[in-house]
Amino acid sequence: MKLEEIFQAYNDYIMPTYTKVPLVFVKGKGSKLWDIHNKAYLDFFPGWGVGSLGHCHPKVMQAVRDQVSKLIFIPNNYYHIPQAKLAREIVYWSYPAKVFFCNSGAEANEGAFKLARKFGQGRYEIITFENSFHGRTLAAVAATGQKKYQEGFSPMPEGFKAVKFNDIAAVENAVNDKTVAIMLELVQGEGGINVAGKDFVLALKKICSEKKLLLIVDEVQTGIGRTGKLFAYQHYGVTPDIMTLAKALGGGLPIGAMVVRKEIADTLGPGMHASTFGGGPVISRAALAVLKAIQEEKVLKNVNLMGEYLVAKLDALKGRCSVVKEVRGLGLMVGLELNIEGKAIVDKCIKKGLLVNCTHAKVLRLMPALNVSKKEIDKAIAILNEVLKGVNIQ
Ligand SMILES: *Cc1c(COP(=O)(O)O)cnc(C)c1O
Repeated sequence: MKLEEIFQAYNDYIMPTYTKVPLVFVKGKGSKLWDIHNKAYLDFFPGWGVGSLGHCHPKVMQAVRDQVSKLIFIPNNYYHIPQAKLAREIVYWSYPAKVFFCNSGAEANEGAFKLARKFGQGRYEIITFENSFHGRTLAAVAATGQKKYQEGFSPMPEGFKAVKFNDIAAVENAVNDKTVAIMLELVQGEGGINVAGKDFVLALKKICSEKKLLLIVDEVQTGIGRTGKLFAYQHYGVTPDIMTLAKALGGGLPIGAMVVRKEIADTLGPGMHASTFGGGPVISRAALAVLKAIQEEKVLKNVNLMGEYLVAKLDALKGRCSVVKEVRGLGLMVGLELNIEGKAIVDKCIKKGLLVNCTHAKVLRLMPALNVSKKEIDKAIAILNEVLKGVNIQ
C-alpha cells in the first residue's frame, strides 16, 4: 500500500476514535522504531505502556513462535500448561492469590468491580480518585475520576465515587455503609504522573482493614517493573486485596489479569465470570517470557539506575528551561510538567525522531523501555533540550 492509500483506508474504514500522528511504522527493535520511509525513531513511550521490554524482544518472539507451532488456542473449560505456569509465576512474585485472565486493563477492572459487588453482599460503592484512569468500558469509565471520559455517555453505572487523590480525610468522609472497596493507581498515569504518598496508602489500608473494604490497586500501567519493583504496591509495604494487570504483561500481545488475594478468590465461582480468550496458550507463553526476561536480564536494577539518571537529567533540564515546571515519577514512569500545553512540544520531538506522549494537557510522559540504555537517555535528553530551550513563557 502507498502512503496515501493507507491514510485513505483509515479515513474510509476505521472509526475515528483516535487522535492520530501521521506516521506509519513497519519495524521495531528495542527502543527503536522505523517508519515506512525507513526513518528511525527513538521510542520513549513504547506501545503506550505496553512495550516495557522494547519492541520485539527476542525471548518473547521465540516463545510465541514456538507456541504458535504447537497449539494456538484452547478454551477455558479445558486445561493447558502455559496458563498454569503463568498464574503460578505471577503469584510467586506477588502475594498468595488466584488469578483470573482476560484481555485488557478495562476488563481486568470490570472483573474487580464484579468481585467487589459479590463480596459486598449489598454493599456496592467503590471509592476512586480524581484524575484516575481505569479504562473505557462503561463501568471503567464510571470509575475513572475524570469527567471528560464520561461526557455523552450518561447515565453512568452507579456505585462509584471519585474523591481527591492523596487526601485521606476525603476518603474518610466518603466511606459509608454502602462502601465495599477503595480503588487506586499508585502512580496515576493518564492523570499526569501523580505518585501516591506512602502515608496515604498506609492510611487507606488501615481504613480498608477497619471497615472490611477491599483495596483494589490498578497496576495496569505501573505493573511489571515500570516503577522499579515488579509491582508498584511493593514500594508501599501494603498488600492489595485485588491487583489488576494488563499493558506490559504480554510483551506486546493483549492480556489482562486480576490477581485476587487467596482468602477471597473463591468469591466468584463457576459461571459467574468468564473470558473466551483470557489466558490462552500463546499469550500466556508471551507473558511467561516477559517475566523470565525481567529476572534474567536484571531489568529492575536497570529501571532503578536509569530512572534516577533520567530524572537527574530532567532536573538539570528544568534548571535551563523556564518552560519546565516540575519533574516527578517513580522508576521509569516519569512526568515532565510544563507551563504550557504539551502538544506542540510532542510534535517537535517527533520531527526530531523522539516519540513521547503528553497527558493531562501539560505533562510530557516519558516511559521508555525498561531496558533503555544511558546512551538512549542522553539522546532523548539532547532532543528535549533542543526543543524546550527555544520555548519561552510570557
Ligand atoms: C491503560 C489503562 C487501563 C485500561 O487498559 P486497556 O487495556 O486499554 O483496557 C486501565 N487502567 C490504567 C491505570 C491504565 O493505564
